[in-house]
Amino acid sequence: MVTKYARGSGRIGSFMKKHILLLTTGGTIASLPGADGLAPHRSDVMERELEQLRTYYDITVKDVMCLDSSNIRPRQWQDIARAIYRQRLDYDGIVVSHGTDTMAYTASAVSFMLPNIDLSVVFTGSQLPLADMLSDGPDNLRTAFAMAASGKPGIFLAFDRKVMLGCRAVKVRASGFSAFESVNSRYAALVSNQGLVINEGVIPRVNGPARLCDAISEDVFLLKLTPGLSPAIFDALVNMGCKGIVIEAFGLGGMNVLNRDLEGLRRAVEAGISVVVTTQCLYDSSDLRVYQVGSRLLELGVIQGRDMTSEAAMTKLMWAIGQGMSQKEIAKLFTLSLAGEITPG
Ligand code: ASP
Repeated sequence: MVTKYARGSGRIGSFMKKHILLLTTGGTIASLPGADGLAPHRSDVMERELEQLRTYYDITVKDVMCLDSSNIRPRQWQDIARAIYRQRLDYDGIVVSHGTDTMAYTASAVSFMLPNIDLSVVFTGSQLPLADMLSDGPDNLRTAFAMAASGKPGIFLAFDRKVMLGCRAVKVRASGFSAFESVNSRYAALVSNQGLVINEGVIPRVNGPARLCDAISEDVFLLKLTPGLSPAIFDALVNMGCKGIVIEAFGLGGMNVLNRDLEGLRRAVEAGISVVVTTQCLYDSSDLRVYQVGSRLLELGVIQGRDMTSEAAMTKLMWAIGQGMSQKEIAKLFTLSLAGEITPG
């Protein structure tokens, strides 16, 4: 019998095995059933699957936290970004296992916290625990490891044989295996019978040394407009100490402009609050210049979110405020793409 892969030799055939760091944070992928439902465990429960992957990669596992991602807050985004930044020089790539529910927020926030990241960092998770025989976890881990080993720099999210920029990912299904989509941007890579086919045009450019900029503000509110929403909400948000608001407006970016509904919004902008307007439609770009109900908002000084996802708009605004930027600087920042989160121009 011919042994194709010499375990422990560091080689697959004539290729050196890539050294990949797996940072675990919890989520369904590492969950086991308990008395009150699924709950995450430490990485031991992932070991059987990792043993298979060790045929192809040298893997180091570090547990950063053990949380259902509903319990992950900006403080944990910082912990994850710091763990990536501090350990990146020792590995060829990094995989971060994470719960799916807030993975798009974490991947987006970490994209802004790590400008010019110089290796491939790939978030992944699963809809069924790895402990389940029919779990989608093994497949998602394999795609994530392949991308992490690709050497393509950036923060990515791998799911259901697709790899997307972390700042373009949206969870679109609560239980289906095809849970994430790359919104308003092509996929960074797809698995096919050719292997992992990378779309070079999507890979972020590195323009300088990698940095850790992890200061972030929690004083940002995401508001989904509904017909008849009380305009008093804006004064309430100002009184709460809000420093930024993302409004998911209607269609191309419209909002009720009759009955003095805009006055509260005007006061918020004048009080120095950065207001970003996106759309509650999942696909395509908002454009406030098209309708009167949008251009009235522009006259107040709101910022266009254009084709950013709400997750990216929220985390970019939280990050910009955390970095101490002024309202004017934030408005300029939102015309620029930092990690591929917006189509500029
Ligand atoms: N509630 C889980 C989490 O986000 C769901 C999952 O991982 O799929 O941690």
